[in-house]
Amino acid sequence: MNEIKPSRRPLIYYYGLMACILMVFNFLAMPWLAKRQIIQVDYGTFMEMTEKREIGRVEVQSNQILFTDKEDTKIYKTGLMNDPDLIYRLKESGAVFSSEIVEQASPLLGFLLSWIFPILIFVGLGQIMSRKLMNKAAGSNSMMFGMGKSNAKVYVKSSEGIKFTDVAGEDEAKENLAEIVDYLHTPDKYREIGASMPKGILLVGPPGTGKTMLAKAVAGEANVPFFSMSGSEFVEMFVGMGASKVRDLFKQAKEKAPCIVFIDEIDAIGKKRDGHVGGNDEREQTLNQLLTEMDGFEGNNGVIILAATNRPESLDPALTRPGRFDRRVPVELPDLKGREEILKVHAKKIRVADVVDFGQIARMASGASGAELANIVNEAALRAVRGGRKFVTQSDLEESIEVVIAGYQKKHAILTDKEKWTVAYHEIGHALVAAKQSHSAPVQKITIIPRTSGALGYTMQVEEGNHYLMTKEEIENKIATYTGGRAAEEVVFQTISTGASNDIEQATKLARAMITRYGMCQDFDMVALETVSNQYLGGDSSLACSPKTQAEIDLRVVELVKTQHDKALEILKENREKLDKLAKHLYEKETITGEEFMEILEEA
Ligand code: ADP
Ligand code: ZN
Repeated sequence: MNEIKPSRRPLIYYYGLMACILMVFNFLAMPWLAKRQIIQVDYGTFMEMTEKREIGRVEVQSNQILFTDKEDTKIYKTGLMNDPDLIYRLKESGAVFSSEIVEQASPLLGFLLSWIFPILIFVGLGQIMSRKLMNKAAGSNSMMFGMGKSNAKVYVKSSEGIKFTDVAGEDEAKENLAEIVDYLHTPDKYREIGASMPKGILLVGPPGTGKTMLAKAVAGEANVPFFSMSGSEFVEMFVGMGASKVRDLFKQAKEKAPCIVFIDEIDAIGKKRDGHVGGNDEREQTLNQLLTEMDGFEGNNGVIILAATNRPESLDPALTRPGRFDRRVPVELPDLKGREEILKVHAKKIRVADVVDFGQIARMASGASGAELANIVNEAALRAVRGGRKFVTQSDLEESIEVVIAGYQKKHAILTDKEKWTVAYHEIGHALVAAKQSHSAPVQKITIIPRTSGALGYTMQVEEGNHYLMTKEEIENKIATYTGGRAAEEVVFQTISTGASNDIEQATKLARAMITRYGMCQDFDMVALETVSNQYLGGDSSLACSPKTQAEIDLRVVELVKTQHDKALEILKENREKLDKLAKHLYEKETITGEEFMEILEEA
């Protein structure tokens, strides 16, 4: 104790002095402060205010949006969202685009700068000083908490009463999360048998698919407190703040357990640590603190951490290790049925004419996310008001799709009818060739909902059992399957498209590896023609043979792929009837399961 006391005293003086200065500052700046506090609101509120034309001036910054109310008395801020037609709606709402809200707002600025800057420097210095002091007083945990707390912000603590029924579609994700709700309701049932809940659950999916909503709904269903923070908020301001915010967040959460802690954009703190010297220290400290907190509590104490990301591949593996975020719940773009449900959920909030066909709207909005659908409904309501109507009509909705789509056509592939048919045949081509070769369900799921990755559709393969070895025949079949997409286009449309570029790459890779690495070409016997370098950094390989052999290899690769391509064409021609039937089914449903596929394939 003796070591702590002397170091505490200067801190007290320091804070005393700071308080005095702040008081003076507050006194001087009072009228300004009272007028222009920055209020953080969520994006929904921002959208709502835009709709209601309550926004005066707006400034879109690289990481946030600042805006004022009509009277220009309050400043609000909100995060950025992928919202391409925002500008359009803002214009519509009569908001004025401002280049710098804070600066133009107050003539007092120069005066304030001369006050705020010294204080910031003061606080910064204080941080460094107090840290040094704390290092001296190592082991004094209570003090650390005190420090962290004074810096940490108060967390939003309301789930806004959102329930699972508010989140439309996403049935798989909801099913998965229902278990968590059940656990929060009756933890004893789980404790008795010794089962512990996963501590962390990662919601993975493209932006605007309802990940935040789902997290809130879990809290709402279980009727427990909801703590929410965004990953990017952890990593700003002063060094050491992130870690102490994490510490404080968990301290609060543990006091309120059972509860839900939601960390949005976890990739902002959980990015893979790159071996760079002098990387982002702050982020690493924050991440380490998060890992420490997660390891520090039992799975049974009632704190469940949900996190959301749309870049799961960039996460540090330490985060996804067992005992941390070891459960992953995909939250995908909605399919046709999901889109219809989402439209209906949002349409409840507006007045709609009796004869609206939401199925039709959903079909037209192929590829749209939940947030975009909410947007379409909103846009339609605005259109109705503009037209002086009391109800939103079918044509309001249809026209608003166009507005929204025109805004995001580039990024989200909204397919034309012809393209949709092509993609349907292409995907079925893959699946059918695979099924005819292996005589079993080749796929888990086939979808022609465009992905944010740029793929227009995909066929989710299931590996049967553990597969450590592959025979030559299996690789050949796989190559044939890759060529199956293009082959189907050839058989049906007698013309080909660019949709097979990834297939071509994969097939070529396999064929080349067969020859240069696996010794599966008799003429070269068991000679390694290629060496792999840099296994952990992209797996580059270099040829280790004469130019003449290289030319020979190239010919063999072409030969190999062509043989399999011909085989695929043969299979599809023989099964043309099934191909048509399956493609039609996929075109209509957009997503089909492996079982549905087999059912149609095997029916007489
Ligand atoms: P994410 O966290 O995945 O980016 P959000 O949960 O923040 O997405 O969703 C943004 C908005 O989009 C929500 O407030 C809601 O209005 C709408 N939305 C998204 N997905 C759905 C859904 N499945 N059902 C109903 N509304 C949705
Ligand atoms: Zn393909």
